[in-house]
Amino acid sequence: MDSIDWIERELAALEEASLLRRPAVIDTVSGPEVSIDGRRLILACSNNYLGLAGDERLIDAARVAAVEFGAGSGASPLVSGLTRAQRDLEMRIAAFKGTEDCIIFSSGYLANIGVIQALAGPDDRVFSDELNHASIIDGCRLSRATPVIYRHADMEHLESLLSAGGFRRALIVTDSVFSMDGDVAPLAQLVDVARRHRAMTVVDEAHATGVLGPTGGGALEALGLRGQVDAVVGTMSKALGSAGGFVSGSGDLAAWLRNRARSQIFDTAPVPAAIGAASAALGIVVSEPVRRDRIAELRELLIEGLRDLGYQVGESESAIIPVFVGESDEAMRLSARIRELGVFAPAIRPPSVPAGTARIRLTVMATHSDMHIAQMLDAFAAARDQGSLA
Ligand SMILES: *Cc1c(COP(=O)(O)O)cnc(C)c1O
Repeated sequence: MDSIDWIERELAALEEASLLRRPAVIDTVSGPEVSIDGRRLILACSNNYLGLAGDERLIDAARVAAVEFGAGSGASPLVSGLTRAQRDLEMRIAAFKGTEDCIIFSSGYLANIGVIQALAGPDDRVFSDELNHASIIDGCRLSRATPVIYRHADMEHLESLLSAGGFRRALIVTDSVFSMDGDVAPLAQLVDVARRHRAMTVVDEAHATGVLGPTGGGALEALGLRGQVDAVVGTMSKALGSAGGFVSGSGDLAAWLRNRARSQIFDTAPVPAAIGAASAALGIVVSEPVRRDRIAELRELLIEGLRDLGYQVGESESAIIPVFVGESDEAMRLSARIRELGVFAPAIRPPSVPAGTARIRLTVMATHSDMHIAQMLDAFAAARDQGSLA
């Protein structure tokens, strides 16, 4: 079949540009250490921040939920309903986020594209931070609203763009913790700008839920802004150690999403096991703040150590620590070198990050030991001494 031969050429071009990507295959539970190709490696790139994905309590809860409600959910909620367990979890997440209601999607990706497409249409503008997650970008495209990109975390720029007018409604959307940089959006100012311009607000707390705030409620909780935005997006796939996404907000918002969010209406409801595990995780997130304290401790250790070694580390305020390299081939070499030394963290390259900002994106997990951090630093020290650093 030569109709599809072009793929072979495109793949070769990607390889040539150090942009071809291949996922690693993991043979173990996704814990602080994993086995890849028969080698034990420190996992330094997972979003399983609290280490709950491998927690026995979540695994048991998944099993119990599967026994009670089955392995699959059969159809989308509007067709064959949602389980009592899912509805209970929605109400618990609403309380956790300080909102009236919540609706669960099969993933955070689907939650983002669903909420943006449900809230904005062709006559509207979506104001989006230039470093927002791809699912937000895709949601903007699907909505057919006019996207307006503002400079990263630049509220003056946002305000000047909003002031231009010429649209029906405005929606401001931002990550709270940015997924490739680990910094936090200026949410207090954003809420203020939105209020003055009567703009709707969607804040994606994918990397903050469970990690930031006294009860793990996210960046909004940490900043005293619970209940101050129209829609809070979150995922059950990261700190909550399971799978699925959600949107929390008013009762009207939830009802509107059930009627208009295509990524829920035309998607089979999450499997009961995922709901069971996430439900167990939510309890642990609130009752074991020591896991958040541990992340804070480990990130300080790692950031200081990397800076001492001369690495350029970003302005992280979360469990995500970017180590900037620059060019893709350099980032690949550094990633390969630390992997030889027992640390697994792939190079993050365009299009995931802007050109010229390829990096190793490190994450700390509550279940990493001090020894794991020391080994990561040893690997980076050796890589630097061997000249893998640009
Ligand atoms: C991971 C991520 C998502 C998607 O969540 P999934 O549950 O993995 O689909 C959405 N937004 C941000 C900022 C993310 O990092």
